[in-house]
Amino acid sequence: MARAQLIRSRLLALPSLLAASVTVDALGMLAAAKPAMRTFAGDHASALVAWASDTNLNAATDTDGFVAVAHSRATANLVLAVDRSPEQHCAELGTLLGYPRCCADRIAALGEPAIDDYAETVSHWNYSGPFRLIDTAGYASGRALISHLPCSSTCRYSLELAQCCLPVAATLGPLPVGEFAATLVGLSRSRS
Ligand SMILES: [Zn+2]
Repeated sequence: MARAQLIRSRLLALPSLLAASVTVDALGMLAAAKPAMRTFAGDHASALVAWASDTNLNAATDTDGFVAVAHSRATANLVLAVDRSPEQHCAELGTLLGYPRCCADRIAALGEPAIDDYAETVSHWNYSGPFRLIDTAGYASGRALISHLPCSSTCRYSLELAQCCLPVAATLGPLPVGEFAATLVGLSRSRS
């Protein structure tokens, strides 16, 4: 099976009870070679672990329902360990999750308590031209191509990640990320 088809089939096989944003996270790993993802899966953690195993990925879980999925088991364990660490860990976690350095540094400079305010600010930015691909305002509902808050509305490293994801996302019509991608590439959804 061609790589893009394989990625598409794995994304469509994600457990449907997970948050919609998990598709965006998994898309980044499979289409843009990001090293890891972390999500809250609650009671559905075991379903996500099984999906990771079927996808030849590794997963780690904690007792609070968080799951880290990574290409290596060591990285999956490290993601959860760093996230639990009481030390300042924004930059390290961002690097582990494959965020562009500029964006990880931006978050680290702001500090974890300021992230929610920053997310609100970023959601109101005006993204123009190709940079519409890095608009994360719809991330929670699965309508985004990147899983991190960009450092600016013209972050080209974020754009590169999004561009890796776009072709696969555009084939995911049944999912919110597919609809988001289709509007970006100007695809008509009519079959006339
Ligand atoms: Zn950036």
